[in-house]
Order: sequence, then structure tokens, then C-alpha cells
Amino acid sequence: MCGIIGYIGKKQAMPILMDGLRKESYRGYDSSGIVVFDAQNNATCLKAVGKLENLENKIQGQELKGEIGIGHVRWATHGEVTETNAHPHTGCQENIFVVHNGIIENYREIREKLIEKGHKFVSETDTEVVAHLVEHFFDGNLEDAVRKALKLVKGAYALAVVAKEDPNKIVVAKLSSPLIIGIGKDEYLVASDQNAIAPYAKKIITLEDNEVVTITPDDLCIIKEREPEDLEIETGKTEKGKYPHFMLKEIMEQADSIEMPLKGRVRFDQGLAKLGGLDQVSDKLKDIERINIVACGTAYLAGLTAEYMLEEYAGIPCEVDFGSEFRYRKPILNKKTVVLAISQSGETADTLAGIKEAKEKGVMTLGIVNAVGSTIARETDAGIYNHAGPEIGVASTKAFTSQLTVLALLALFLGRQRQMSLITGQNIARELLNIPALIRELLKSEAKIKELAEKYKNYKNFFFIGRKYNFPIACEGALKLKEISYIHAEGYSGGEMKHGPIALIDESFPTIALCPSDSVYEKMVSNIEEIKARKGPVIAIATEGNEKIKELVDDVIYIPKTLEMLTPILSVIPLQLFAYYTGVLNKCDVDKPRNLAKSVTVE
Ligand code: GLU
Repeated sequence: MCGIIGYIGKKQAMPILMDGLRKESYRGYDSSGIVVFDAQNNATCLKAVGKLENLENKIQGQELKGEIGIGHVRWATHGEVTETNAHPHTGCQENIFVVHNGIIENYREIREKLIEKGHKFVSETDTEVVAHLVEHFFDGNLEDAVRKALKLVKGAYALAVVAKEDPNKIVVAKLSSPLIIGIGKDEYLVASDQNAIAPYAKKIITLEDNEVVTITPDDLCIIKEREPEDLEIETGKTEKGKYPHFMLKEIMEQADSIEMPLKGRVRFDQGLAKLGGLDQVSDKLKDIERINIVACGTAYLAGLTAEYMLEEYAGIPCEVDFGSEFRYRKPILNKKTVVLAISQSGETADTLAGIKEAKEKGVMTLGIVNAVGSTIARETDAGIYNHAGPEIGVASTKAFTSQLTVLALLALFLGRQRQMSLITGQNIARELLNIPALIRELLKSEAKIKELAEKYKNYKNFFFIGRKYNFPIACEGALKLKEISYIHAEGYSGGEMKHGPIALIDESFPTIALCPSDSVYEKMVSNIEEIKARKGPVIAIATEGNEKIKELVDDVIYIPKTLEMLTPILSVIPLQLFAYYTGVLNKCDVDKPRNLAKSVTVE
């Protein structure tokens, strides 16, 4: 969600800014803009709605020379997607230019006061108040004006600000939204994301909350002195290769992206998981009596699956909350509780808020994060990286299966610290190591799933049902279909259908039923019968060798047999492919679905 970029140095700023914006575009955006200052401090500000190419087209033919500039890809929170609402925003004098990520919660109040003082607003955004407020306080020193403005602002922000009348500097600040400064040779960059500055900087400084930093071409002045860290960027390709979309590439590479988090972490002989990231808290974890998982979207559904894993195998009571709900429900936490955040990007603002809540209460925090060095990775006491490689498709696929894998490792780790036997530990270890091979096998059904998508692509509604470990997977299947194809889909527990939702079933409302041969198979069969009795079409996701199910349902997709706890890692894959092909066949932009952002950095 939203990307900020800034450059100050001796090179031409524009190509570097555009390159950074391109690299940040995977975060999700709807419009973009840049401002570049030339040697005489003339500012050229250009904005465009839609794809970055539209901004590139505007830049062509313009003299956009200058060694200092800032840029932005916007994901609208306040005000429609229009050129006027795109960033940078400026005040009445067009002296100050601001790019902002986040939400200024009290912007209406500030706006009214500034209007009384004669300021004229042109956009509908919350951000524009920052430009006017800084302008209001500006008396030649940009940093002072930014500090004064931020004292009045409530909400979350990462900001980069430049002023014509205090030239040759970028002032940056942040509260609850990510921002880093990249240090190059005689140049500095500002970005939301490490990948954006990788070619230019090898060292970075991660801004802390409430810091305001002035960057000039030869220096930066931070309040709290600290050593720059090495830039750590994810390994793994960020090109589509032979695939038409990142989403398909990421689905098809899941055997590899699951091998990575398993590498070096499974000790079959001892039936153990070796999790280096938990070493320093390992003893404390032995005494933990409750786990509260905090996550959003797909990661939340990985958390729900983990609830089954952790309670069944580690014997630890577990609760799962949406990040956006956790801190508002006054959770009861104590010293024997662990709060575990799950986030692909490690920047999810709602999840981060949950971690902050836990820290305020003095509770131990853990993170399961894919993006190395991200805020959640830094803010938690300890954690486990997914090592799934960069995920570019907005709808999460390989990050989800790697989260499930890491959560299974965590259940094994905590289980073996407690009552789990060596035999059970070995059994889980063996099956985990075997999962990548099973995924390779399963992916061979791609063509069959495409055929099914063709058959069902025009239905307007879908149910996804499952029980126990596959109930969260039903919800994930529905979420994926909604995100990618904009078709209405709901995930339910198979047993819950008769308590209300089954009222919707008729021949025009198909159900995808997850019914692998596991401990709840017979119950799922009954739930499928109930749907068939009402003429609902059913596609079953069943275990290879189950020929009988064909007599009951309209279509079957088979998955290989594995341990019940690990079935979700396999059963979700056909659902990802089904959503992908349904989206493609309905001509949807599957890599960048409308209204969605990859890295959700606002609350
Ligand atoms: N709230 C601001 C806007 O709607 C910033 C959104 C963003 O983070 O991209 O313009």
C-alpha cells in the first residue's frame, strides 16, 4: 500500500525516483506523482491516475532535470482516485511539497482551522492538511515547520517534505508507517521499502516512530545516533519468467517456497524443529500457557489453521484475532501469554498495532514474517522468517502456504517442549519434509482445474466449506475467489451450513467442499449430501484414491494423502488455481486486483 521515494545527491533524481516507484508498485496503488527541483529551485510536479506508465508518458517531453526530488504511489484512503488527489500535495504558495503514507485522523479539524486562516484546499485528501500546516509554520526552516506541524497531527504517517525556500534538503518523519533512508556514495534515498533502493544504497537507517530527520546531499542529522544497518533484500526473482502473471508463478513455485522454510529446520531423528529465531526465548516458551495470534486477511486464516495445530499438537490454548479487532476488545494477557503476529509484509498496520498493545502490557511477542528486516520482524522479541522469497501478486498464495509450514514447525517445536512423543515428532517431521514432493505431484492437476474454472466461471455466488483443519482453508478459498475474480464467495464450516446459509442453496449456487480422507470426512460427506439434496452443484477436494466421492458430487479434484494437520498446505492449492483461472477467464487483472494493496500500512 502506497510507496514513498526520495532522492538527494549528485545524480539526476527523476530516473531514480521512477525506478523506485516501479519497484514499490507491487505494494498496490491507484495513482502516482513526483516533484523534482532543478538547480534554480524551480519545482516540476507531475501526477497521473492509474498505471505508472501514465506518469511516465507525462514525464516524456518534459525537462525534468534536478538532483533532488520526491515521489509517491498512492492507495487512496481519503478522496477519490483523481489527479488532484494524487501526491505530492502542496500549500497555497506552492513552496512546500509533501508525500504521505498513512492517515491523518484529525484532518477535518485542522482543515477547518486552516480555512479560517485563509488557506485554500484543492484536494479531498487528508494529506493536503500537512502541506498547508507546514506552510503555516514555515519561516525559512523546513525542519522546524515540520516538527511544529506534526505536534498537531493525529494518526499514522510516513512523510517526505521539500521546500523551494529551504532548498537542498528533504525532511522525513514517521509514526506507525514504514520509512527508511538509504545511504549511497554522496547521495541519500528515502523509501517505504528496501527493494526500491537496493541498486543505490548498501546501508540503511530505519526511521523510528516520532523521528524527524533532515537529509542534505552530504549529511543527515538524526536525533538518536545509531549505526546504519546493512541493506537486506530478499533473494529470489521478481520477474514473471515463463508465466503470464506473478500469481500463477507464485502458485506454481510453491514446492520450492516451502522447501526454503523447511531447510535446516527439521531434525527427523530427534523428531524436532530447530528454529534459530526462537533460540533466545526458547526457555521462556516452555512456560507459556496461552498463544494469542494476531493477523489480517490470508495471514489471519493461517492463524486460524494454527489454532487447530497448536491446540492438538502442543496442547496450548490458542486464540486468533484480526489485527484490527485485537486491541479494541481489551484482551486479557499475562506473563504466560505470547502474542504471535503473522504478516507477509511485516508492515501490516493493524497487526503491528496488536504487537504494540502486547508490548505495552509487557507480554512476549513473536513474529512470523516473510519480508526480512520489516517493522514486525524488528518490533517482536523473536520470530521465524518464512523465507518464501518476494511475493508480488497482491493475492497471497505462496506466502500463505509458507506460513502454514512455519506454523506446523512451531507446533512441532512447542509440542516437543511439552508432551509430544518422539514418534509423533518424527511423524510430523517426515511428512513435512515430504510436502514439497506432494505439491509437485498436485500441481500436475493445473489443466484439470482450469477446465473446471471454465465450467463454473459464470456462476455469481459460491460457498466454500470444510471442517476442522480445512475450515480456515474454505474461508481462504472464498477470499481468493473474491479478491481475484470479484465473484461473491463465502467460506463456512461444513457443519454450520444447516444453521442458516443453506437457505441460499439451489442449482445456481455451487459449493466447493474440502473433504480429504481425515477425521471429519464422514461429517463432511453428510454436509455435502445436505447440499446435494437441495440441488446445489458441488466440487469436492478429496484425497487421491477416493473413487466413491464421485458418485455424490459433480466434480472432484484430488490431492495427495498426508498427515491431517498438514492437509491445508495441499488443499488450498487447487483453490488458488481455481480463483486464478476464474479471474483470468473473466478478464480480471489478477496481479493487481481492484481496490486492493499488497502491503496494508494503514489501520
Ligand atoms: N491518506 C492519503 C491519501 O488518501 C495517503 C494514502 C496512501 O498511503 O497512499 O491520499
